[in-house]
Amino acid sequence: MAERRAGESPIGSKRPSAQGLIAVLVIISCLLFLVLNAWPTWEARSLALTADQQATSNLARSLAEHAHGTIQAAETALLDIRERMEVDDIHAADRSRLHTMMQEDIVHLPMVDGLLVFDDSGAWVVNSQTARPSSALNISDRDYFIFHRDHPGRGVHVGEPIVSRASGHWVLPVSLRLDNPDGTFRGVAGAMVSIDFFRDFYKGFNPGREGAVSLASASGLIVARHPDDPRVIGADFSKGPIFSRLGPQTVEQGFQYRSPIDGVDRYGTVHRVPNYPLLVIVSHGKAEALANWTSSVKRYLAVSCIAIASLIILGLSLARLVKRNERTERQYRLLADYSTDAIVCATASGFPLYVSPSFSALSGRDMAEWRDSGWQSIVHSEDRDALMQGMASPPRDGGHKTVTFRFIRPGGLWVWCEALIRMLPARRGKERCIVANIRDITARKEAEDQVAALNAELSAMALSDALTGVANRRCFDKKLDAEWARAVRNGNPLSLIMLDIDHFKLFNDLYGHKTGDECLAAVGSVLASSIRRPEDLAARYGGEEFAVILPDTTAAGARQIADLIRAALEGRMIEHSANKPWGVVTASLGVATLAPMPGDAVKSADLIELADQALYRAKRSGRNKVAEGGQLRVVGGRQALKSST
Ligand code: GH3
Ligand code: MG
Ligand code: MG
Repeated sequence: MAERRAGESPIGSKRPSAQGLIAVLVIISCLLFLVLNAWPTWEARSLALTADQQATSNLARSLAEHAHGTIQAAETALLDIRERMEVDDIHAADRSRLHTMMQEDIVHLPMVDGLLVFDDSGAWVVNSQTARPSSALNISDRDYFIFHRDHPGRGVHVGEPIVSRASGHWVLPVSLRLDNPDGTFRGVAGAMVSIDFFRDFYKGFNPGREGAVSLASASGLIVARHPDDPRVIGADFSKGPIFSRLGPQTVEQGFQYRSPIDGVDRYGTVHRVPNYPLLVIVSHGKAEALANWTSSVKRYLAVSCIAIASLIILGLSLARLVKRNERTERQYRLLADYSTDAIVCATASGFPLYVSPSFSALSGRDMAEWRDSGWQSIVHSEDRDALMQGMASPPRDGGHKTVTFRFIRPGGLWVWCEALIRMLPARRGKERCIVANIRDITARKEAEDQVAALNAELSAMALSDALTGVANRRCFDKKLDAEWARAVRNGNPLSLIMLDIDHFKLFNDLYGHKTGDECLAAVGSVLASSIRRPEDLAARYGGEEFAVILPDTTAAGARQIADLIRAALEGRMIEHSANKPWGVVTASLGVATLAPMPGDAVKSADLIELADQALYRAKRSGRNKVAEGGQLRVVGGRQALKSST
């Protein structure tokens, strides 16, 4: 419990909101959870892409080698043809020989659509497919023919994909220049590599639902593609995302791109075919490349949502619990702060932890003074042992111990206090604490002291009337004054019964004075046996009149006792023939009750007067009766009386 000066209200005091702290804690936990999980998830994405890149790279390299082998086989066949034509000097007249030779070659070249030889004008000389080619066909306009005619180089030339005029198929022209012995242009030998060959080969690979395998010329024209799309064969993609970014010397490069063919986002690898101006492109759809990763992200998101929702629900429950506890605490504090009793919480050794504002009003000290100078300095030296015992060993069963002691106020005055001390449940590692409700009982203590002093005085005096055995008049007067003072302080009702024997003069006259005295003694014994509480007092008021003082007794209670006395006396059956119509000794009784308050103008004499008035009403109404209350004569001042009238 935080220390607070006496009188300071804890209500409205500034302290960090527990609910705010819980909200911050929940937010931080959620963020931490997300960050700690997002990092490996992002790493997993990179790993998935790397693995996919590796797969496309491997396939692209293999397909590039395949393309290389294919073109190389065609080139080898062409070199053989050129060798025979130039070295063996086979002329146009030997077409049939050349044709036969080509047919033998092409059996071993399933990738070649046709082997062809053209003269220097582009006219068809020989074709592997037919012994007598049409002289109407001329390829002088074909790029590869123009290339060889204009370039004396002896190297192989791989052209752009074209539709073969001989077969009508898409082919990739692979060609060599033929020279005359003097070095002049003689013609072209070409191997038309079938694009269907590549397409059929690529069909054997599965790049996924959104992936693609392509063979393209280095200048950006598509040669073959799987999945097949006849519209793209020979189409120019040199301005597309791959060719525009590919370096001229790059052998292999990974790409992320959106395909200009079908608009699909892909990850892929481009690999250059060794020695030939061709490229292989292998790609996977982006969604497929990341499919495993995406499904694990979905799982992660689902788990995250559940975890975060649980955290939020937990936080909300905690916040609600804290709010309820705070409200309860506020209510208890309110009670403590505005209680007229001082409420104190301290360790069992007497170190203060909390005091309510009433503590200062009661003791004249604040908590700092108590803490600085110790509890002994503010408690009367005679009461310290009792208080120390009370603090050291209050009952631990939830009950309390009551200790009466005096606070020494500044200036040396003291106030009597009553402390109800309870032990709080022990907390681990902490000293036991006590809670005490302390009440000012100075006024009560003084009244009790007065009554105690009176009782001591009474016991020192001759208390009883010698003839009747009940208290005498002096005793009655003192007792009435003391009980009146006590009633004023406590606000409790005080009742008085006045009793007068009926026609007692006649009794004396009839039976003599001595018998009269015996009768008086009998009445005294009736009174003594009719009261039972130790505070009650029966007294001889004078002559044949008696009185009974009944402290803390209501009018109804007093009436009951008066009725009892009247009946008991009549029941004694003491002969009194002149007391008509009963013929036995009877008495009339008047009962009065007042609950005086401080500042009231009434006095104890008023109570006697009320009882006396009631007594004489009983007489007037025929005797042997009980009458209550009476007309109160108020002299002045505030009248706040409870009268039974
Ligand atoms: P009432 O019913 O109106 O009270 O009539 P009463 O005769 O009782 O009243 P009253 O006051 O006229 O008479 C009181 C008598 O009580 C007068 C007196 O002789 C008698 N008395 C007073 N003190 C004593 C006492 O100590 N001994 C005896 N034997 N008689 C006493
Ligand atoms: Mg009388
Ligand atoms: Mg009388």
